Amino acid sequence: MNEINPRNFKFCPVCGDRLKEKYLGEEQHTRLVCPNCGFIFYMNPTPAVAVILFRDEKILLVKRKFKPKIGDWTLPAGFMEYDETSEETAIRETKEETNLDIEVKNLFAVLPGFDDSRVHVVLIIYNGEILGGDLKPGDDASDVRFFSLDDLPGNIAFSAHREVLEMLLEKADK
Ligand SMILES: [Zn+2]
Repeated sequence: MNEINPRNFKFCPVCGDRLKEKYLGEEQHTRLVCPNCGFIFYMNPTPAVAVILFRDEKILLVKRKFKPKIGDWTLPAGFMEYDETSEETAIRETKEETNLDIEVKNLFAVLPGFDDSRVHVVLIIYNGEILGGDLKPGDDASDVRFFSLDDLPGNIAFSAHREVLEMLLEKADK
């Protein structure tokens, strides 16, 4: 992966001229810069939110319907919209993927995600509580199910989600 241009962007989104890689001494970073209008393309990681939800001591996981990692399981999760708080993302994504209504409780962890082929991610993980709703997979999920921590599926997508489950397992062992 080209770290400054993982999606192979070519053109300036402001003026349409061709972007060029340039070392910016002040920032000590090579970035994509527009030679015409001076626009600097900052390739920042994208914030995403995941939620830990238990019912009867089982954790809720979602089976991915789309690329990347089709068929693998994750916590209910998704990318933040531009006008959302992270708590709002947690509630919206859980509703979209599982049809459950939740309350966001407290922050569990913030973990880096360097293994998503689309973009580097900052994953914000909350503990949540299920308030209601009938469990059913949404548009971007092929299945939603509760799993015992000692009987998790082997194919968990993304290292950050695996790390969360390992942290929960460690806690449960104590
Ligand atoms: Zn430009």
